[in-house]
Parts: sequence; structure tokens; C-alpha cells
Amino acid sequence: MIPTILVTGGAGFIGSHTTVALQEAGYRVLILDNLCNSSPTVLRRIEQITGVEPEFVQADIRDGGALDALFQAHQITAVMHFAGLKAVGESTRLPLAYYDNNVNGSVQLLSAMQRANVNTFVFSSSATVYGDPQKLPLTEDHPRSATNPYGHTKLVVEDILESLYNAQAGWRIARLRYFNPVGAHPSALIGEAPQGVPNNLMPYVAQVAAGQRDRLQVFGSDYDTPDGTGVRDYIHVMDLAQGHVAALRYCEQARQDLLTVNLGTGKGYSVLDMVRAFEQASRKTVAYDIVARRPGDIAACWADTSLAEQKLGWRAGKNIKDMCEDAWRWQAASAG
Ligand code: NAD
Ligand code: UDP
Repeated sequence: MIPTILVTGGAGFIGSHTTVALQEAGYRVLILDNLCNSSPTVLRRIEQITGVEPEFVQADIRDGGALDALFQAHQITAVMHFAGLKAVGESTRLPLAYYDNNVNGSVQLLSAMQRANVNTFVFSSSATVYGDPQKLPLTEDHPRSATNPYGHTKLVVEDILESLYNAQAGWRIARLRYFNPVGAHPSALIGEAPQGVPNNLMPYVAQVAAGQRDRLQVFGSDYDTPDGTGVRDYIHVMDLAQGHVAALRYCEQARQDLLTVNLGTGKGYSVLDMVRAFEQASRKTVAYDIVARRPGDIAACWADTSLAEQKLGWRAGKNIKDMCEDAWRWQAASAG
């Protein structure tokens, strides 16, 4: 059997780009996804980019029997865990679905790993675990808090991983706290494909530029930021994907470890900065209205990236021009 990385949620936005990066780094990838927020067409798109179609199993991470069968049939050496639900607003309406998918799903997956003696795990956490920042840039030791069920699921899984690490020798775990992933693969073959009205800024901006939506609503212009609009640390999804490869290599070299690390660029840009950058990349106008703040939003958030540089030897290389150009190429290709 050939050593294989199990990528849960690998048909989704970040998982598909990470699959490309893993394959290009020489890893063999097996994707497990229930396709609740993705399409199997991404598998052939990945093959077009890398020349190799990843193996795929349509299954749910909460299905222990399916997981056991996978671990028996393949020589899985590590798991990258992207599968989960991620819409903050939906999580306040459907908390049980979020705790079941994200928390119970992670417990089921880790239990199956334990049964199969696989102990290398890379987890998709989020900068949302920092709550409303007390100090910027955000370092990994900043106090954690959650203001919605989605954020709470990330906190709880981070804690479960720490308990597991303390309980049993040999685990090699990376908890990766992503900032705001945007952009797409430069080929425009894979990207972010939100269903319905996008919740996040950049897919919405792309759809306004493409004429699919009339105007962007800018949520608040009275924050304590240079232009009054919210500031975030946007990171190109391909940089994020490379960060995962670096985290996997770090884990592979450790006897045991529990690493918690920010994956961001260390730079903050406002909503209006991103609108202007997108207009330049697309040569389209992005019409917008300033409206009230979105409940639960914070003013500003960006990462201290020094720990990632020190531990992983990784830093983001792409800028907002790259992010907007690649997002626009993907938007134009997927509309056509
Ligand atoms: P996505 O929805 O595009 O991908 C998630 C994938 O998981 C989808 O393909 C979906 O079908 C699958 N999935 C969901 N529940 C499943 C289950 N129970 N069993 C099997 N498959 C299941 O999301 P994404 O943006 O690629 O996010 C990946 C991970 O990164 C998530 O855990 C998310 O919380 C985390 N994250 C995302 C962001 C972001 O802004 N996109 C930021 C921080 C953290
Ligand atoms: N935002 C906005 N209009 C939108 C979506 C988002 O003005 O339609 C703003 C939001 O208030 C925040 C920034 O864009 O300041 C990033 O929001 P997103 O939802 O993409 O990410 P998150 O809130 O998770 O950081």
C-alpha cells in the first residue's frame, strides 16, 4: 500500500487547493467528503492541474464504519481535517447541526484514527477563536473566546485536541488558525463556489464586478480604522495551502507535538481597500452602499506571523493584487 494523506472536506474551497499543493509536493491524497457544500467536478479539475486525480470517497466524517473501512483499505499516514460547516449566521440558527458536524464529526474522526493507530493530524481552526482582539497583531497566546456557535465549535475542537495530546503519547497535531482565505488557483480551474448569496466579502465583491449582483453593502464606516471600514488579514488560498504542506512536514519530523499557529499575512486591509484592489484587477466598477454594522463583527484583525515563520519556515508570498486577479479570473471562468 502507498502512504496516503486523508483529506476530509477535500472537495471544498481550502481542501481542494491544499490537495493540489500536497500532490505537487509529492504526496498521494485520498479525499473524503459528503459533498454537502461542494461538487465532485472539482476532482477532475484537480487532475487537470496536477495530472493526478485524487482518490475520492463520498462519506460523512460522522460515519465511524466508513472511516474504519478507509483506514483498513489505505495506508493513511496523516489526516488533514477540513470537513465542517462554516457559516456564522447559519450556526446561530442551527447550533445543533454545527456541534454535530464540527465537534461530534471531529471526535468520530479522531476516534477512528486512534483505532487505526494514525496520530498525525492537521486541523482547520480559525482566527475567530481570538474573539474581539485586545491587542494587534494577534499572537497565538491571545485569550480565546467565541461569540457564536461556529466559533465555539472551533474552540471546543482545539480543546479536544489538547486533551487528546495530553492523554496519549505520540500525537503530532497542528492547529492552524486561518485568517481570511480568498483568491483561487491561478489556473481558474478551482476556487470558492458559495451557494446562494455569499456571506463573505470577496465572493460578494466578485459577483458585483461580474454584474451578478447590483451593489455591495459595506457593513459600517464608523469603526476605529483608517477609513472607518472593517480591517482583515486576507490570505491567498494557495499560500494557505502551502502552509498546510509546511505544517504536515513539521508534524512528520516531530516525535510528538501540539503546534498552534496563525496562518495569515500579517497585513490588514479595509473593506474599501479590497474594493479598490478588485476594481483594478477586474477593470470593473464595484458599486457599494455604506450600511449599518453587521452584528457580531469586529473592527480589525490581523496576524502576528512570526511563529509560523519560525516553526514552519513558511510565510505568505502573494499580495492583494494576486488575490483579486485570481479571484476575478475564477469568477469570470465559472460564470462562462
Ligand atoms: P467548504 O465548505 O468549501 O469545505 C468544507 C468541505 O467539507 C465541503 O466540501 C463539504 O462538503 C465537506 N463537509 C462538511 N461537512 C462534512 C461531513 N460531516 N462529512 C464529510 N464532509 C463534510 O469550506 P472551506 O472554506 O474550504 O473551509 C474548510 C475548513 O476551514 C472548515 O473547517 C472551516 O471552518 C475552516 N475555516 C474556513 C475559513 C474560511 O474563511 N473559508 C476560515 C477559517 C477556518
Ligand atoms: N463585509 C462587508 N460586506 C459584505 C461582507 C463582508 O462589508 O457583504 C465586511 C465585514 O463587515 C468585514 C469584512 O468585510 O469587515 C470581512 O468579512 P467576511 O465575512 O468576509 O469575513 P469575517 O467577518 O469572517 O472576517
